[in-house]
Amino acid sequence: MKVAKFGGSSLADAGQIKKVTDIMLTDSERRVMVVSAPGKRSDDDTKVTDLLIQLGEAYLKRGEAQQELEAVVARYKSIADELELGEDIVSTIREDFNERLRYDSSHPGEYMDQMKAGGEDNNAKIIARYLQQLGVSAQYMNPKEAGLLVSDDPGNAQVLAETFDHLYKLREREEILIFPGFFGYAKSGRLVTFPRGGSDITGSIVAAGLQASLYENFTDVDSVYAANPGVVEEPCEIKRMTYREMRELSYAGFGVFHDEALIPAFRKSIPVCVKNTNNPNAPGTMIIAEREHAENPIIGIAADKGFSTVYVRKYLMNREIGFGRKLLTILEDEDISYEHMPSGIDDTSVILDEGQLTPEKESRILQRIRTELEVDDAHIEKGYAMIMLVGEGMHETVGIAGRAAAALSDNKIPIEMINQGSSEVSLSFGIYEEHVDHAICALYEEFFSAKKVLQ
Ligand code: ASP
Repeated sequence: MKVAKFGGSSLADAGQIKKVTDIMLTDSERRVMVVSAPGKRSDDDTKVTDLLIQLGEAYLKRGEAQQELEAVVARYKSIADELELGEDIVSTIREDFNERLRYDSSHPGEYMDQMKAGGEDNNAKIIARYLQQLGVSAQYMNPKEAGLLVSDDPGNAQVLAETFDHLYKLREREEILIFPGFFGYAKSGRLVTFPRGGSDITGSIVAAGLQASLYENFTDVDSVYAANPGVVEEPCEIKRMTYREMRELSYAGFGVFHDEALIPAFRKSIPVCVKNTNNPNAPGTMIIAEREHAENPIIGIAADKGFSTVYVRKYLMNREIGFGRKLLTILEDEDISYEHMPSGIDDTSVILDEGQLTPEKESRILQRIRTELEVDDAHIEKGYAMIMLVGEGMHETVGIAGRAAAALSDNKIPIEMINQGSSEVSLSFGIYEEHVDHAICALYEEFFSAKKVLQ
């Protein structure tokens, strides 16, 4: 059996929902469908999840949000009308959102979770109703009833191990199951969402739990590309890549797949295929455990902006036992995680996601580093981008770092930092944000220019 997950752009309107149901019905092995909330219908449209965030926030602030509620209901109404599902389902959806608005607002994180989850939950109900109307034996599946248990961490759920056994029981079901993505339930019974883009995670958990033969992830591109098609003209398509490669690229900015989504599928050895709802006959990209990498040691180049560096210099830092721990404790006390920490003998840089910093946090951090660690220099630099070369073949191929650095320097792009992960599946460069597109093109030219498809 196969589990198919459809992203927001695949379900943005009635026309897309018809394509998706056709895809489900053309292959009888597709038994479970995991769905996102309706996404954007055009570039200037708003995703339903974003409308729901506006709705929840407006209600928390003003105690009323009629206009925002109407915007959400209108999205579902236009879908229901075009699919000719009848008025009653629109009233049920309106009542569902009204009930979510009345939820206890004393914990805003929890309040927002149950509001956001309404996007996928109501979409799954609409799709189940549409399939039933077509005469298909289909059923909406509530994640609580299915036993999808998660940690109690609002907006940041992690799946609990017992979930997989619970989900295995769904194999016995005869109907096509329509499973809403993006949320599960804590043991307390409270609804908790995954991070944004988390329907990919649900799909992977469901595929792993059911021990599916394939997890198909339908999106709006024919395949995963070696570089961002918005930056590099016609980048080559990736036909096969490993879980690790996809995870690294997703982490470093490839929007096609959530970076946490691969682990459940990987642990149960479920192959993953990224496919296009608008061109379902294209073979897509297969993500598997191993690939032959002699020909293509590098599989892709990703880049992400919005990083800051906490730079610290102290003479004889290398001899001071516990220096790193104390430095990281200061960040931990401010609830800040870090991405990389390249260091020299007398200095170190902690690279972190800029979004976690506020002016108050910055001055507290610097103040504590200066007084508690007695450093010679400490400052924060902003506006960094991380550019990452990813490929399983890198550790067996001599000269990749040299070629990459030369490509950047030939293009006069200054390198601020180099970091080769211990796994040697990725190599990253810290550069200033303003150079990022130029750097992607320079590296693409160096490693892929003559290729069309990566096998
Ligand atoms: N609807 C959620 C979001 O926009 C989850 C998802 O689509 O994967 O983040």
